[in-house]
Amino acid sequence: MRAADRFQAIKAAAAARPHGTRARYVGARCRCLLCRAANSRYQCERDRAKREMGDRRDLVAASAARQHILALGRRGIGYKSVADAASVSRTITGLIKSGARRRIRRDTAARILAVTTEAIAGGALVPATGTWRRLDELISRGYSKAQLARWMGYRSPSIQIKRGGKITAATEARVRKLYEAVNAGRLRRA
Ligand SMILES: [Zn+2]
Repeated sequence: MRAADRFQAIKAAAAARPHGTRARYVGARCRCLLCRAANSRYQCERDRAKREMGDRRDLVAASAARQHILALGRRGIGYKSVADAASVSRTITGLIKSGARRRIRRDTAARILAVTTEAIAGGALVPATGTWRRLDELISRGYSKAQLARWMGYRSPSIQIKRGGKITAATEARVRKLYEAVNAGRLRRA
């Protein structure tokens, strides 16, 4: 295949990917709202991982955190949920889990070790940071607060989550599901 044909094939494949994927942003150069959001999500995550990995001060062995992530995994809690509950990036917990990351920052280890099944099961409080990150992204994509509040089951048209505050893990899970449903096209604006 000539280089130009190969390039066209790659472009065609990227154009077949759904909107809201980085492949479509990069490969097909789509600049729609969803594709731009997917790309900025990728870059935020990458910057955050770089920040967390770049600081070499105060590193500890990742083995205890890894065992903890594996133990939670056996109880049905994936490394992404652990990341969200611990307020560390999913990239980091993924690398710790796979064993690719052998040393981590002390506070990252402490935050991961503090995650319990109970904390994720619903009762315990977790920082609202990740939840607001998802909500803000949806708001920047044009979803109104009233619409989001309705989807979250609130009767009033405002989102009753304090910025910088804490929420139950159940609320966090509800917003994550909503966010994923919107991204998968299962929820549409009224
Ligand atoms: Zn697009």
